[in-house]
Amino acid sequence: MDLGIKGKWALVCGASKGLGFGCAQALVAEGVNVVLVARGAQDLHTAVETLSAEARGASVIGVAADITLADGRAAALSAPNGPGTAFDIVVTNAGGPPPGDFREWEREAWIKALDANMLTPIELIKATVDGMAQRGFGRIVNITSGAVKAPIDILGLSNGARSGLTGFVAGVARSPLAGQGVTVNNLLPGAFETDRLKVTFAASASKTGRSVDELADARRKTIPAKRFGTSQEFGAICAFLCSVHAGYITGQNVLADGGAYPGTF
Ligand code: NAP
Repeated sequence: MDLGIKGKWALVCGASKGLGFGCAQALVAEGVNVVLVARGAQDLHTAVETLSAEARGASVIGVAADITLADGRAAALSAPNGPGTAFDIVVTNAGGPPPGDFREWEREAWIKALDANMLTPIELIKATVDGMAQRGFGRIVNITSGAVKAPIDILGLSNGARSGLTGFVAGVARSPLAGQGVTVNNLLPGAFETDRLKVTFAASASKTGRSVDELADARRKTIPAKRFGTSQEFGAICAFLCSVHAGYITGQNVLADGGAYPGTF
């Protein structure tokens, strides 16, 4: 299926690895010009090289910046040789907050989580949607988490900050932007095989004394699909939400979790 977005410009945040990279890769495969953002210059360089080799004529640009900071966002939005703020597609993403006990989180920990997982996506939406509306086409996809639907107690910072974003998106997606060709959706990963998942297992292994493989196997057994998702699968869903065919999907929370969420809806 031709997604009809060849030649568009996308800003993909948190894109040197994992789910963000999967989204960038799927967009590049559709001929979309992509600006990738991540903090670590080395991994970003590798990602840009990989995608440039796969791009047939599309531009692939890396911006080494912290997207949770105002100057990082400014650098991303005005990437040299990029489109300026005239992005047609924005995929928001940053690392998730650390797990822990809510009794130990002071105001600073909450502000950091809100900055990364709620206010940064909102700032990026604010900077780009009016231009999208003027041009009659725009796609925002926020990478959030399955924990928005099924909260996990030790991920309280994530549950709280991402729920705030989810509420904001539910409103803005149904604003006049919806009649101007701009869609805003959230994409909710369950367990995907990325560095983040490996770090989580390594942390539990050192706490429990069980091996990483044992913990990963036990987790896989809890998922009806009996496996973790891949970044490629995640990217393909993102690219579809960014496509011309998804213009009637807005304000939705699209869960990709191999059936792990047990509810009917
Ligand atoms: P990952 O493999 O660790 O990749 C994260 C990417 O984001 C890297 O490219 C990282 O590069 C970049 N990044 C992190 N913080 C950034 C910042 N402040 N500014 C710019 N770039 C930043 O993680 P992932 O598994 O793809 O997860 C992506 C998101 O999905 C996270 O919010 C995570 O909590 C959420 N999630 C993941 C899963 C899962 O199973 N994988 C499940 C539920 C939710 P640098 O570190 O170099 O900046």
